[in-house]
Amino acid sequence: MPTHPTSGQLTDCIVLLGSELTPFRCSRFAWSGDTITAADRIAPASTLEAGAVVVIPGLYNSHTHLGDSALPDGATGLTLEEAFFRPAGYKYRELAKLTRETHLPHLEAHLRYMARSGTVAHLDFREQGPAGAELLRAASINTGVESIILNQFNESPFTEADLRANRPGHALPPAHRAELEHMLSVADGFSESTMNDLTDAAWAEIRTLTSARGKLRAIHCLENAGYRDLSLATTGRGDLIRALEFYDPDIIVHLTVATADEIALLVRAKKTGVLNPRANANLGLPLPPIAALLRAGANLLLGTDNGMLNSPNILAELDFTYKVAKSQFADALWPDPTAILKMATTYAFYWFKTCRSAIA
Ligand SMILES: [Zn+2]
Repeated sequence: MPTHPTSGQLTDCIVLLGSELTPFRCSRFAWSGDTITAADRIAPASTLEAGAVVVIPGLYNSHTHLGDSALPDGATGLTLEEAFFRPAGYKYRELAKLTRETHLPHLEAHLRYMARSGTVAHLDFREQGPAGAELLRAASINTGVESIILNQFNESPFTEADLRANRPGHALPPAHRAELEHMLSVADGFSESTMNDLTDAAWAEIRTLTSARGKLRAIHCLENAGYRDLSLATTGRGDLIRALEFYDPDIIVHLTVATADEIALLVRAKKTGVLNPRANANLGLPLPPIAALLRAGANLLLGTDNGMLNSPNILAELDFTYKVAKSQFADALWPDPTAILKMATTYAFYWFKTCRSAIA
């Protein structure tokens, strides 16, 4: 079982305090278990002095695919479609070859790495159906890093022809309906790769069942223009508006190619987006419109995405995101760095807290 210091203290350090992450120089910062017992403020601290220790809240990674951590660098040189898409993408072929005994140690090793790099909890998009969710649950219990698990069907419920026909009333086949029931008994919610992977009738069915069970819903939208284009060709609706109308997701990942209209739609719907610009960059995709999303007042969290593309190190994601945001604002001093840090700390803390009470 995990161990951690039950108490301790630091002297003369800078602590980011409160939900606004206000930096204060403190003469003493002490804790007992997971409770702060002292933060003796001296004065606000606007500069980092040599040798100063900086204390920040625990970090939340809101988009991982830890199952794919067993395949590091596996997606290098592949397109999004070649690496990640059903039914024959590299990840699905390779994950199917792993046994519980060969897979579990990879999950545990990456969870421990996340803990060492400051992560206390993560939101995982776990493939391989109920067995995949159970495997991550075991790794989470063994390592002490909290995993909120969104589960995906082991195999696609529909043929490509079924998906493109998108017939009204074409809901989940009985075997996949049963798999969904099983997934919701072991996982915290449901996810699929894209809106183009299920029929509209299936999305509506999953929305109803997840609501009835008090489970979360997530989806990847607008990772590249192909998501929107295929959805438009199939249904006459882009993937984001289709997700909002049929599925009502709690969380929407990527938004890499979101237009001004799509950003406005996200904000009007009061939905939370998750950005992971390192993964977008690693695939040669556009960078997400971080500045436009911030200007529009979007609710944003941060994740590291797939273990085949990135280490699950949210500190690296914070660094990259901050620099991309400054580039997009064309201002070396804007945004305030706390606007980015909040995506992995206070905003995420409250989002995860709301999640936990919703799925409790
Ligand atoms: Zn994902």
